[in-house]
Parts: sequence; structure tokens; C-alpha cells
Amino acid sequence: MSAVVVVHGGAWAIPDDLAKASVDGVKAAACEGFSVLKKGGSALDAVEAAVKVMEDNTVFNSGHGAALNSDGEVELDAIIMDGRTLASGAVSSVKNIANPVSLARAVMEKTAHSMLTSRGANLFAESIGMATVPTDALVTEYERSEWTKHKTYAAGVMEDFNSQWAHDTVGAVAVDCAGNVACATSTGGIRNKMVGRVGDSPIIGCGGYADNSSGAVSCTGHGESILKVTLARLILSRVEQGKTVAEASQMSLRYMSDRVCGAGGAIVVSPSRQWAATFTTERMAWAAVDQDVLWYGLNPKERFKEQVSQ
Ligand code: ASP
Repeated sequence: MSAVVVVHGGAWAIPDDLAKASVDGVKAAACEGFSVLKKGGSALDAVEAAVKVMEDNTVFNSGHGAALNSDGEVELDAIIMDGRTLASGAVSSVKNIANPVSLARAVMEKTAHSMLTSRGANLFAESIGMATVPTDALVTEYERSEWTKHKTYAAGVMEDFNSQWAHDTVGAVAVDCAGNVACATSTGGIRNKMVGRVGDSPIIGCGGYADNSSGAVSCTGHGESILKVTLARLILSRVEQGKTVAEASQMSLRYMSDRVCGAGGAIVVSPSRQWAATFTTERMAWAAVDQDVLWYGLNPKERFKEQVSQ
């Protein structure tokens, strides 16, 4: 059976000067995830690898280059979930970990818990010997100057994102050769968020969900809206009712827009290898590798393809 990986680099009004770097970034992440799958790696390994590539890429709001909170500090959230067992691990409000997705995986695999937050997450990272970085090492000049320009959460988001409550969180979903699915999502949240604010991204069923019986989802967009409709689980419940992954995503995003005026995006893959990348924001950088073909897009209804470079 062939494997599929889909990634997103966040749903929001991506400005033209970040467009190419965002598309290049998601293409590179999808190829990395696919090369893990091609070597026989699990869906879980593939989503972690793909998300790490984007956490290390400063164009995205996760890991290095994350959005800053109202105190001008990074506070990172991430989740990973294994569709075989429904095991999940998450971290929230971590400050000096370059790859929060790997810490989330360690929470899943090495603790009896599903989420660790803030100081507790950092103490756990230390206890397993995970490298830390100085907090300022994750702050880019670009993000510092954007933060200085936009003093308040609401005004900044409205101005910057063209009325779209979103920013460039990253995520990945995959189905491996054995038919197992997994998801991962990682974010710095929304610029100028209150200290301690946690959005949808690390919350199971909201920022992500994976279940071998229906599929895997990673969400992006206005966290408080996604939380209200439990977007990832909502999409999968529609898949369970017989909708295709594309229909389920479109219906659920439309519901979020009608019910709570929230905009966002989602990527989905099913155990039968259906996949979709859908959004209601102006743009979302996404890429997928399916049978050695790399698909990608940025604007609504855009779907380019090229052969995966070996
Ligand atoms: N959902 C993320 C949050 O609210 C932001 C995003 O997806 O851009 O923290």
C-alpha cells in the first residue's frame, strides 16, 4: 500500500512577500515526511519529521520564528497523535525548546499524561536530556519588528490578517504503508496573545486528531473559534457519517464560519488514502505527496503538481 503525507504552513492572509518562502517551506516539509514513509517509517515518524522542518524554518509561526506574546516572549504549543492507539502527547506555553513537536511526542511516549505545560514541560524536557535553547534564540528580527508595530492582539490581528483571525501555525497528517494514520500541529499562537493563552493547537480534537478508523486532521486558524467547534473531531465525525474528507472539511469550516465567525484551514488524510487541504482564509500554504507526486497550493482552488525529486 502506498503512503501519503499532507502538510500546512498556516491559514491566514499570507502577504505576497512571504508567499514563495511559505510554499517552498511546505514543499520541503512534505518531501521530508514522504522520504520517512518511503523508507518504511511510520506515519508518526513522518508527521514529526515534517513538522520539525517547518519549526526550524523561520517563515513559519512555530519553533524558530514563532509569534510573540504581549510580553514579547515566545510561548509554543504542540500536539502529536497516533491513530493506531489514540495515544496523544502535547505541550503548551514552552519557551526554550526548538522542536516542541518532539517534546509532545516524548510526553506521549514517556509519561502517563497527555499534556504538560510551561515549567512542567521544561522540567520534563530537562529530565529526558532534551536540548534547550536560549529563549531569545527562537525570536527573529522580523517577528520582533512585527510585534513592535502591532501593540494589541485584536488590532494587530485585524490589520495584519485582513480580518482573518489566524497566523502561520504548521501541521502534518500522514498515512503509512501499513494504513496507520497520525497528525501533528505546532504553533507560536497568535501575536500579542495574553501571557499563558493556549489556543486550539495542542488541544486534542481541536488542533488535531488521529484515529485509524476514520483519519487524521491538523487544523489552523483562529484558535478560540476552533476550540468552540472542536474542529478536528468535527471533521472526522463527518467522515464517519460517510462524507469524503474534502466534503467533511468544507462543511466543518463553513459551520465554524456560520456559527462563530471563525476562519481557518485543515488538512486531512484517511486510512484509504483520500486526502484534502481546505481553508476559508485568504490563503494557506499546503503540500502533499501521494505516489511520488508532489501537490501544492496557496490560493483557493489552486492545485499544482510536480514529480518528487529523488
Ligand atoms: N490556531 C493557532 C492558535 O490560535 C493559530 C494558527 O493556526 O495560525 O494558536
